[in-house]
Amino acid sequence: MLARPTSALEKAMNGEELTFHDGVDLMKNENLFLLGQAADQLRKQIRGDNVTFVSSYYLNYTNICAASCQLCAFYRKEKDDDAYTLSNEMIVKRAEVAINQLKATELHIVGGFHPKLDLEYYEGMFKSIKKRFPKVIIKALTPAEIFFISRVTKNSIKEVLTRLKESGLDALPGGGAEIFNKSTRDKIVLGKCSGEEWLNTAFEAHKIGLRGNCTMLFGHIETPEDIVDHIIRLRELNKKTGGFTTFIPLKFSLENTQLEKEHTILSESPSTYDLRVIALARLLLGNVLPNVSVYWIALGKKLAQVALCYGGNDLVGTAFSEEIFKAAGKPNQTTTGELKFLVKEIGRHPVQRDTFFNTIQSF
Ligand code: SF4
Repeated sequence: MLARPTSALEKAMNGEELTFHDGVDLMKNENLFLLGQAADQLRKQIRGDNVTFVSSYYLNYTNICAASCQLCAFYRKEKDDDAYTLSNEMIVKRAEVAINQLKATELHIVGGFHPKLDLEYYEGMFKSIKKRFPKVIIKALTPAEIFFISRVTKNSIKEVLTRLKESGLDALPGGGAEIFNKSTRDKIVLGKCSGEEWLNTAFEAHKIGLRGNCTMLFGHIETPEDIVDHIIRLRELNKKTGGFTTFIPLKFSLENTQLEKEHTILSESPSTYDLRVIALARLLLGNVLPNVSVYWIALGKKLAQVALCYGGNDLVGTAFSEEIFKAAGKPNQTTTGELKFLVKEIGRHPVQRDTFFNTIQSF
């Protein structure tokens, strides 16, 4: 017998906003294919058949971190042999490769919570890059990093954001959100801001015109309720500010993490679960946050193509030189040519965009 859509799915298909209970119902009970079909239809209505991506270069200025998150394979302590912190000169050299050779339009700059770097380090980094490359978009420092820098340097969040914006910061990446629900979050992060602090920092950034993406880490120990709660909290903030450029659900990568070492998690989430999360995100966010990104590095390129048919309309970007998921066992080489090919292969239209979703070129 063919499955019938639930009332929550009918609501979504009629363009009504979904409640927390609707979301949990869809997460737990809805037939995956019907969920995917509804999400795909809504994607087509809201964003059409274009699939966007940005030419971006990832730059990790330090892997030294005061936190010790169980989900993380990237961080090191100062005494570790492979700990590093890049000088501003080294960062500008990397930016030269990114922009001149790889044609990146965006630098995505994140790092660990370094306990000894002052605000002048970050200001100097952005000023040096902008002096040499005034047009490149600097998307740097997640709300979690901004919150940490504010605490360490004893400046208010607003002061930190304002000074960094004046030094050349254009946008914030959305990392560090993980999962907002406190009881789950406390089991996967150690020494990172709370969900409320992350949201408040993003709110402060949006208020001074610093837009950015937002993320959610899924596929670890979260519940369906955690997923729905997280996405709805982002939706509600975006109703107030419109500051989020896209929502990027990040599939958890297990290798080399504490969660793997302690056998808390034995395997990564199945692809059916990943697709369910992406479809649900599309339906919960609707017109409030119209871009849903598929992070090909975490999903793999072939599943990313399927996810684009389950509500996704964006492939994030080239992510040249990505290190964080690489540390957790995910290889990540691509080119704009390959992303273009992946999109064309599924009958959609590739579009290279900038950080703020303005079209650079259609193929
Ligand atoms: S996830 Fe971020 S804050 Fe946590 S240990 Fe890793 S680098 Fe540090």
